Amino acid sequence: MINDFDLSMTILELKDYNIYIGQTGRELSEIIENGHYSKVAILADENTDRLCLPVLAKKLNIDFNIIKIPAGEIHKNLNTCRYIWEQMMLAGMDRHSLLINLGGGVAGDMGGFCAATFLRGIDFIQVPTTLLSQVDASVGGKLGIDFNLIKNSVGVFKNPQAVFVDPEYLKTLPYNEVRSGFAEVFKHALIADADLWNDLQTINDFAEVDWSPVLARSLRIKKAVVEKDPFEKGLRKALNFGHTVGHAVETFSLKTDQPLLHGEAIAIGMVCESWLSHVEGNLSEKALNGITDFIKRIYPSYIFEKNNFSEIMGYMKKDKKNRSGKINFRLL
Ligand code: NAD
Repeated sequence: MINDFDLSMTILELKDYNIYIGQTGRELSEIIENGHYSKVAILADENTDRLCLPVLAKKLNIDFNIIKIPAGEIHKNLNTCRYIWEQMMLAGMDRHSLLINLGGGVAGDMGGFCAATFLRGIDFIQVPTTLLSQVDASVGGKLGIDFNLIKNSVGVFKNPQAVFVDPEYLKTLPYNEVRSGFAEVFKHALIADADLWNDLQTINDFAEVDWSPVLARSLRIKKAVVEKDPFEKGLRKALNFGHTVGHAVETFSLKTDQPLLHGEAIAIGMVCESWLSHVEGNLSEKALNGITDFIKRIYPSYIFEKNNFSEIMGYMKKDKKNRSGKINFRLL
């Protein structure tokens, strides 16, 4: 399935770093050796420490320290950063040290932020282990943490030395996390690659997907967009398709006993914003139905009451993309 080219290792070259897609091999060791780092530490959360570190450790023939943090978005905060910086100091890391972030978007965003600020910035490598972080969070240089309950409100832009996207890690990822990350995969297809979109329609079972070519094709789109617009001044906003409604539904759901994962909420947002693209733009009814049917096939329905609508609208009114009080959507 989606096996249109052989990929033992695909390398996407960006201006100042590479993304390696496929089974992690000698390239990682070479980068570390060539960097002549005085210390190397791996940041992992409690799950990736248990499930992913054994996979990564086999590929490294160097000594490293492990910095282990609790898993989950609620820990993407200043307290955890303080712990990470302390551990880096205790390990004797200096400006010529390297931090490898092994985990999903939380470890990548927060580990990258800690590396970018420790001693005014040390090198870091991203080893994303969720589908969402492999196709989205690990690329584009956005790093940060949540502060005062506002998501990603403190952070910096800084690129890693390299990103290693290895589908091996997806084998232990829970099904709902794979499904959540998959929303970003087909979002990339919808905004930029009709062929990929058509190929994704053939997927029936995530366990059978040959992920490397899918990851490569999805990442090519993200790469092209972030290279043209690294600081989100224009084109990069296209990646926000589905996110105005999606973020509002996500925020709403987090207060209920049925919290949605990010990608699950974005999938709902993509249904709504595809409809808007049809009503307000040029998206055909056939395309709209195709998108809606596909999403409904993969994601369960999410029911909310009519009287919840004003609360969800309220969240949309606070969206970062709004200008002059008007809600902004990135439509197809
Ligand atoms: P996450 O990092 O919390 O990972 C989800 C869960 O999966 C965690 O419990 C984690 O421990 C577990 N896990 C990770 N890899 C695993 C594996 N291989 N096997 C088993 N369990 C595994 O969440 P996420 O969805 O990866 O990322 C969400 C974060 O990414 C959010 O904080 C979001 O703001 C951020 N994000 C950043 C960008 C960006 O451009 N920087 C883009 C999108 C999202």
